[in-house]
Amino acid sequence: MNARLIRQVNTSKLFHALRQNPACSQRDLVALTGLDKATVSTIISQLEAADLVEKADQLSRGKVGRPETALNIPLRAGYLLGARLEPGTIRLILSYLNGDVLARHEEHGETDLESSIRLLSQGVEHILAQNELTVEKVKALGIGIPALIDDTGYLVFAPNLGWRDVAIRERLEQTFGLPIYLDNDTKAAALAEKLFGRAQACQNFIFLSGHSGVGGGLYLADTLYRGSSGLAGEIGHMTVNPEGQVCSCGNKGCLETYVSESAILKALREQGLDLADVWAIKARAENGDSVVMQVLENATYYLAIALANLLSALNPEKIIIGGNLAVIAPFMMPALNVELKQRALGKPLKDCQLELSLFGSESVPMGGIALALEGFLALPTWLTQTQFVLKE
Ligand SMILES: [Zn+2]
Repeated sequence: MNARLIRQVNTSKLFHALRQNPACSQRDLVALTGLDKATVSTIISQLEAADLVEKADQLSRGKVGRPETALNIPLRAGYLLGARLEPGTIRLILSYLNGDVLARHEEHGETDLESSIRLLSQGVEHILAQNELTVEKVKALGIGIPALIDDTGYLVFAPNLGWRDVAIRERLEQTFGLPIYLDNDTKAAALAEKLFGRAQACQNFIFLSGHSGVGGGLYLADTLYRGSSGLAGEIGHMTVNPEGQVCSCGNKGCLETYVSESAILKALREQGLDLADVWAIKARAENGDSVVMQVLENATYYLAIALANLLSALNPEKIIIGGNLAVIAPFMMPALNVELKQRALGKPLKDCQLELSLFGSESVPMGGIALALEGFLALPTWLTQTQFVLKE
């Protein structure tokens, strides 16, 4: 690694340690990051000069050594915006630089690209005005889109939105005059689990999100795994029944044809029960409705097959279920655990925790915040602006 990259990695590591352990001391940061004292001291001075870290009045709450001055990320350090673009809806979150949510906003509207950009722009204006902020205070905007997006921010294809071949990052940077970071919605949501959610201490986890389809994020060996063309993680299209129904991808018996919200609603309709959404399913399940429980049991059976395969192949520390699937997953858990005991290899199963995401329907906009923060820390213009000579 070159010196600049090492500096970025160390700065990012230290910033996250401080974010996750507010009011800790410089000495605590040495213990938390494994960086040496001189490096921590240099980076802290640099962050302080850029007004991204402040020395608080109180003493450190840390337990390492004698009391020392506490460090914090000041609220005035700046803000991040996170968004989810989906057909007909735009969800926005405004957060402090440490990821703490300050405000939420939703815009409803059309699905074509130009209207969506206009709505996003309207939403950003609204959320900033409501909080008496100007766009100059925002460090970055991160966006999760149900699409295949390459690492330059080029949108290859968004099936649900009908968008294809758009230099969307460039287009949005022109509109907003802000650094923009984009990714596939489920990958963004997986990153939110790593930065702010259930997987903060994990180096290997699988994020599984169920909405109209089923998406996945593979976080392996401490990085979001993308595969050779950015398509890794399509857990929804794993075959769980070779004789199953035809999926939207053309294959038969994909996981998505059993556990997506639309698949479960369809299975219920076939049993004579017409429900609106997962919340209606949840309400029925809470009353022990036998038709709902039987359909969920069938979905669970196929989910267990997919998860057992993933456990054997990837040996994750956690599998985190998010999106709308997390709303009904509590009713699937008992059967899922029984089924997994029969199917998965003992040791990988024992070493893995199955958990529900804390973010509910905000997984993707929080993913936007995660993308914005990662982007801000990886390309710190403030780092090149501050006149520091670093010991390489
Ligand atoms: Zn499929």
